[in-house]
Amino acid sequence: MMKIDPVCGMEVETTTQYKTVYKGQVYYFCSRQCLEAFRKNPEYYLEHGPQGMPGETHSHEEHEHEHHHSAHGHHCH
Ligand SMILES: [Zn+2]
Repeated sequence: MMKIDPVCGMEVETTTQYKTVYKGQVYYFCSRQCLEAFRKNPEYYLEHGPQGMPGETHSHEEHEHEHHHSAHGHHCH
């Protein structure tokens, strides 16, 4: 069974180890980054919907990098 990762919007299997319960509802995530992002601010993601992958690697100093692979969406496993 597939569920939507509320942080990045990806479909994830419910067999994933990355899940959490919030207000009686179970949420599933594609990665630990998404899980932790949700745990930090669940209301934000529930209200605003998926925001894409949380920035786990790029800091604010790496602006020149742009987001070369963000268009493909498969960077999120
Ligand atoms: Zn995700």
